[in-house]
Amino acid sequence: MIVKKREISRKILALEAILRRLPESHHKRQIIERDLSKYNSGYQGEKALNYYLSFIDENKYQIFHNLRLRNGEYFFQIDTLILTTSFALLIEVKNMSGKLVFEPEFNQLIRSIDEKEEGFPNPLLQIKRQQIQFEKWLDRHRYIPMPIEILVINSHSGSILKGNKFISKYVCKIDRVLEKIQELEKRYTTDILNVKEIRKIGNLLLKKDTPPNTLSLLKKYSISPSNIITGVQCPQCNEFPMVYNRRKWQCSKCRTISKDAHIKALQDYFNLFKNTISNTEFRQFLHIDSIFSASKLLNSLKLEKHGERKGRIYSPTKDFLQ
Ligand SMILES: [Zn+2]
Repeated sequence: MIVKKREISRKILALEAILRRLPESHHKRQIIERDLSKYNSGYQGEKALNYYLSFIDENKYQIFHNLRLRNGEYFFQIDTLILTTSFALLIEVKNMSGKLVFEPEFNQLIRSIDEKEEGFPNPLLQIKRQQIQFEKWLDRHRYIPMPIEILVINSHSGSILKGNKFISKYVCKIDRVLEKIQELEKRYTTDILNVKEIRKIGNLLLKKDTPPNTLSLLKKYSISPSNIITGVQCPQCNEFPMVYNRRKWQCSKCRTISKDAHIKALQDYFNLFKNTISNTEFRQFLHIDSIFSASKLLNSLKLEKHGERKGRIYSPTKDFLQ
């Protein structure tokens, strides 16, 4: 059973928002485009894994995607976690093309494409750190230790993997993932936890999952908030800003009319600036004159309301941001 679905990460949404709202000539566009394409490629790889996991027995497994958990002051992230009554499996998904050589001596990953070599951090080391962190996390929440297995899969179909026997135990291409899970099933036949306990861990995982905060992204790329174009964007020609009149948005360039173009603008605001918005901030960012219209729009959206009257602020529900 998929307990936590894979959602498009807020980082991708936030980078897309920055690109939408950064002037064409801004010198940071290139680096953001590069990072966005990296995250998007990872996301495609993770989505490809969903297909393979749809073949495993729903009743035996609990599957969680994109968990971000905390041990003390540090967070750790798990691409995919599969929980069973006898073992847990952490899967790290890569989507890399080319020839990938796992070089054990220096513990590095070397990729060659057209005779050009490039070094990457070894994903096996990365997932081993997650394994230790997850073990600690279970211990902190007083669960009895269970075997935690790890697997790095590469979803790029044209890639070639090279390594030794040890590496091939933990690294494989995506079409072997079911085979790997079956091997683990054969190895771990004793139940360590019962179904009720597994469900309890599952609930705790969902409760403790903390999606990454994207609010520091502008700072990370050293982009001043004043460079960000405000207003509602035309869904047709991408022009800023649309004008709000009689409960409709209209583009002054191509005359397109929209009833809900403000939703994307508000999502951008939440992804880039703050987790809350007041009526005044909403009017400033979306270029709306009337307090009354702004309040009507805000109250029509899936937002949480805090406070009364003038002091009221709004924050997004999880649904609103997806
Ligand atoms: Zn337009």
